[in-house]
Parts: sequence; C-alpha cells; structure tokens
Amino acid sequence: MSTVRVPIRRLQAANEAFTNHELQRPPSLPVANPTNSFWLDSTPSGMAKEGSTGVLTKDADICIIGSGITGVSVAYHISKILQEKRSAKPLTATILESRDFCSGATGRNGGHLCPAIFIDFKDLESRYGTQEAVKSIAIENHTANSILKYIADEGLADKVDLVGGGHITLFVTEKEYVEATADFEAAKEAGLPVDDVEWIERKSMHETYGIDFPGARITTKGHNLWPLKLVTQLYYSAKSNPAHLSLNLHTSTPVTSIEYLDDAGDGHGSRRLKVNTPRGSIMTSYILHATNAYASYLLPHMHGPEGIVPTRGQVIASRAACSSENLTKSAWYTNEGFEYWFPRPLKSDIEGAGEADFPLCILGGGRGAASPGFEWYEADDSTCNKLVGDALKGFLPGLFPGKYEEGKEPEMEWSGIMGFTKMRDPFVGPVIKSGTSFSGQYISAGYSGHGMPRAFSCAQVVASMILADMFGETWEAPEWLPERFLTYKRDSSES
Ligand SMILES: Cc1cc2nc3c(=O)[nH]c(=O)nc-3n(C[C@H](O)[C@H](O)[C@H](O)COP(=O)(O)OP(=O)(O)OC[C@H]3O[C@@H](n4cnc5c(N)ncnc54)[C@H](O)[C@@H]3O)c2cc1C
Repeated sequence: MSTVRVPIRRLQAANEAFTNHELQRPPSLPVANPTNSFWLDSTPSGMAKEGSTGVLTKDADICIIGSGITGVSVAYHISKILQEKRSAKPLTATILESRDFCSGATGRNGGHLCPAIFIDFKDLESRYGTQEAVKSIAIENHTANSILKYIADEGLADKVDLVGGGHITLFVTEKEYVEATADFEAAKEAGLPVDDVEWIERKSMHETYGIDFPGARITTKGHNLWPLKLVTQLYYSAKSNPAHLSLNLHTSTPVTSIEYLDDAGDGHGSRRLKVNTPRGSIMTSYILHATNAYASYLLPHMHGPEGIVPTRGQVIASRAACSSENLTKSAWYTNEGFEYWFPRPLKSDIEGAGEADFPLCILGGGRGAASPGFEWYEADDSTCNKLVGDALKGFLPGLFPGKYEEGKEPEMEWSGIMGFTKMRDPFVGPVIKSGTSFSGQYISAGYSGHGMPRAFSCAQVVASMILADMFGETWEAPEWLPERFLTYKRDSSES
C-alpha cells in the first residue's frame, strides 16, 4: 500500500514561521562552495567560468547582476527589443555573476516548467480581485508558451531536453482535493482556459498509478527541461545580435556594492552608477538586480519578510527500480506544493535493459520535515539538511511501492536557495525604498520557488522598462502582468 512518508499539512505552520524574527540572519553573498547539482554536474558547459579571468569590463550601458534565468532572459529580451526597434547604435550590456554561470537556483532546481492553471485561484481572487487572479494565471501561461515557442522556433527541444509529459497534481488529503475542486470551478467561471484538465477519482488513481489517495488532476500544460541548457541557449541568442547588443559575461565576479556617481566633473562621463567588485569597478547607466534570494545583500532595505527571504530547497536524483513505461513522463506535484518530481525519460527505453537504463527521478521538497524553521533564511547551499534528505529518500519508495527501491541511496543530492516573499509574488520594476526610486536601478526577483513559469516574462517587463526609460518612451504594462508584481504598485502590508 502506498504511503506518504513526509509530514503533511505543514503549509500553515511554515507560513507562520516565515515572519519569525528569531530565524533571521544578515544578508549574504552566495557561498563560494555550493553543492553540485545533477544539472550542473552533467552538462559539459563551456560557459561555467566565462570571463572569470583577464580584464574586467570598465563600462556598460546596462549591468545585469546574476546569470540565472532572470538575468540572462533580460539580456535576451533587450537584444530582441533592440532588433525589433532596428536601433541604430548598439548598446553594451555586461552580466556579472558571483559564482559559475547559472549556478544559483536556476542551475539546481526541479526542472519543472508548469504554469499554475487554477491552483489557489479562490485565494488569489479573495485577496486581489478576479482580474488580478486571472492575470496571476495568465502570466504563467504566457511565460510557458513563450519559452516553448522560443524552443520550437530555434529548434532547441533536444538541446534543452524538453519533455512534454503534462502535469499531475496529487491530492493526499481530502481538504486539498476539495479546495482544488473549488479553485477549478472558480477559475472556469472567470473564463480561464481549463479545458484540458482531467480529474481522476480515487478508484482510477488506484487502477492507473497503484496509489490510493483522494484524487488528482492532470493537465497537458506541463513540461520538464534542463534549466541550465535553456539559459545557455538564451545567452547565445542574446549574444547573436552584436549589431544591436554587445553582450559579455564575467563569472566569479560578485558585486559587493553600488555607488551613485556625482556626474558634475567626476571624469566618468554620463554614467550615473558605479558597480564595485573585487576585480575592479564598472561604470554604468542602468543596473538590473537579478540576484533573487541574495537581493538584500546589495539592497539592505529588502532584507526580512517584507522583502526577499532566502530559503533553502533540496533535491535528490534517485534511480527508479522499473522501466519508463511503468512510470509517467509527467511532472508531479503534491502535499500543498512541498514535494515535486519527474522521472527523466531515457533516450533509449529498451525493454530488458540493465538497471542503469531505468529512469532517474528528480525529486525536490521535504522542507516540511525541517520545522520549526522550514529552511527560511538559510542562504547556504554548500550543505544539505539531513532531516529534509531523509524525508526525500523515503518518499518515492513509500508512494510507489516496488517502483523505487527501499533504502537505496540517491545518485545525487543537492541544495539551492530560493527567494521567497510574503505575497509569494516577485518584485518587478524600479528599485524603490519608502516610495523613492533608486534612479537607474531595476529588479526582478522573489519568485517564491515558482520561477520557471514567471521569470522569463518578468524579465521581459524589466527589459522593456529599462529601454523605455533610456529612449524617453512611455512604458505600457502588458495585459498579462499582475499589477501587484510592480514594485511601485505593491501594497507594503502585503509585500
Ligand atoms: C531546489 C530548488 C528547486 C526548485 N524547483 C523549481 C521548479 O521545479 N520549478 C520552478 O518553477 N521553480 C523552481 N525553483 C525556483 C526557480 O529555480 C527560481 O525561481 C528561478 O531559478 C530564479 O531564477 P533567478 O535567475 O531569478 O535566480 P537565480 O537562478 O538564483 O540566479 C541569481 C544569480 O545571482 C547571482 N548573484 C547573487 N548575488 C550576486 C551578487 N551580489 N553579485 C553577482 N552575482 C550574484 C547568484 O550566484 C545566482 O547565480 C526551485 C528552486 C530551488 C532552489
């Protein structure tokens, strides 16, 4: 019989701990010796140490801090917008990365590209109104569709290991099931596209998956991919347009502080900002903070629960004990979102092949086992939490008896730092403190563990804002953007 071997119903306790002052630690830069993730370990990336030695760029129109999906997507969108504008003079942009290329959350996440569709719709509607709730879903559909279109247009499906297996949400408690059903009805009522959602009742769950829980829902809108490979391709695309954007990257280059320049006779020309690193300084006009969990190191006013809280997530890669055809290709999600996994399909799913040809399952979660702190304010991804690891190791053999071997050690285990906000929504737009903008500085960060279906579009928003400001144009919000994501619209009581 299948059992859930991780703590359940922990969401409320975890949410309450989020504001606990005793858990808070001072802001920090990313640690220098992170755990090794499956994605980073298995990709022979020539980009890891790009620009880490030699002469540091001295001047750039735009400095992007952070080389995860946000930072690189901003460069990609800037390049694309400039191309569309047929801008006459190329802009210069530099990406600065503290560690190796894409070695933050993006290089160590669960690989799910799954828009929300309707989950939490009623809660969103009651907090922000129907229009904002609809946009919360719209931005996720827009992001996933845009990434899928980019992959299709450029013929990159194999290069980024795209798997279109859909998404299954498994409800392990009756309460989750009932709430999800109400969310579904409310989303349908609001006109959201939920036609492809299929509900599975207890009996067919048992017949199809051999598990016995209140139910599940399946949607075809759900993909998995190799995040580092996607971000690498986005970087190549952004760089492939030198007539409009001259882009470079410096890894192993942490930004330690930012200064405003006195432009009256300081010898720095028209640049208003100085970005300091241990390798020297860069003069620039615009800064994009794509630093996610670490944003408050450079922006101390964003420290604490009103800003962005570093939160350690953990993932294991476990070999299944059966072939792919006995598993699904879907991304799974359960237990109020605490656990998520997908069995990576093999290139050669040969019947009778050896154990090494059984799929490797990437499973994240387990934070419910780490009470009372739930890994909030943990910014150190050089270690894993044993309580979380133990919970994860027993999870799949417990849920799918016989399909995963009891007591078998995972092939890899790693951690990564997510950036959570009280609203669970990112800060997008000009950097603001107490209503005052930091001239030339922008941010897109704080996706609260759900960045793959949001970061690419939020990057599009800040890229278009920076260029509108630069060219003296009026910026217009896209119709799919929830207003509350915007830094200047954010209600401080909700941040
Ligand atoms: C374990 C784990 C599992 C996850 N699973 C999923 C999932 O399956 N699906 C999903 O949608 N989301 C998932 N997420 C969340 C998702 O990975 C993030 O929301 C997303 O990757 C954030 O991208 P980013 O570019 O904003 O941040 P990051 O990828 O963290 O990039 C920020 C970069 O900034 C660099 N940096 C920070 N400070 C400085 C500085 N001062 N100077 C220079 N560089 C700096 C960091 O080194 C880092 O590389 C997961 C996250 C984790 C950690």
